Amino acid sequence: DTGEALLKVSNIEVIYNSVILVLKGVSLAVPKGGITALLGGNGAGKTTTLKSISNLLRSERGEVTKGQIMYRGEQIYGLSPSELVKRGVVQVMEGRHCFEHLTVEENLLTGSYTRGASRGEIDADLNMVYDYFPRLKERRRSQAGYTSGGEQQMVAIGRALMARPEMILLDEPSMGLAPQLVEQIFEIVKSLNENEGLTFLLAEQNTNVALRYSHYGYILESGRVVMDGPAKDLRENPDVKEFYLGMS
Ligand code: ATP
Repeated sequence: DTGEALLKVSNIEVIYNSVILVLKGVSLAVPKGGITALLGGNGAGKTTTLKSISNLLRSERGEVTKGQIMYRGEQIYGLSPSELVKRGVVQVMEGRHCFEHLTVEENLLTGSYTRGASRGEIDADLNMVYDYFPRLKERRRSQAGYTSGGEQQMVAIGRALMARPEMILLDEPSMGLAPQLVEQIFEIVKSLNENEGLTFLLAEQNTNVALRYSHYGYILESGRVVMDGPAKDLRENPDVKEFYLGMS
């Protein structure tokens, strides 16, 4: 489904520390109900793009100095994380960021906090998360810091789901995970997209897996979009094959 754009980023520039220009006019559109991939190598600007959308740049002395970020046709730049959650936008940060001293279930519960949901709704959401991640149900009483990297990635996504989002910004879900686990995580993303209608914008260095699971892709290089298109076209593109899929 490639309905209207839920999120539209137009020509944004981002500067760190008032001097370092990192995004040099990035534009992208994320259709409702789609999985959109933001691709590119280390330092291309993927994380910066996601953080521009979710307003997480300030703590890193970064600032959007130009351009527009529209969600459902409304400017969202500068909204607090809790305001964004209320509108349906949640980010899963790179490196997973669990609360290590809390249990898996307590971590998940922190995700429903901004929603002001009733106990019944929260229980229903927990069960939904456990349906998608049976492993988390088995581990629910374990301290998150002692779970594996794959489980922590599941906790991070599960916690985002507890906010009942419409769109998830997912930063580098494959990072540090064995290939089999990467596949498992992407399968779950795919079923969340298909069954719950969740929209994803995901940043990935793993071009191969990202293009197999997404509908559309943008390739960033040094803070610019150098190529974009339907995932299946990008997979067949000779330049993408040579430079990003390691086949030539
Ligand atoms: P990665 O996969 O490594 O996260 P990326 O594509 O997500 O790469 P960004 O993290 O967005 O890239 O970084 C883009 C550029 O911005 C890099 O050159 C990086 O060094 C620079 N950068 C990132 N954060 C800061 C910061 N807080 N201050 C200054 N420069 C930064």
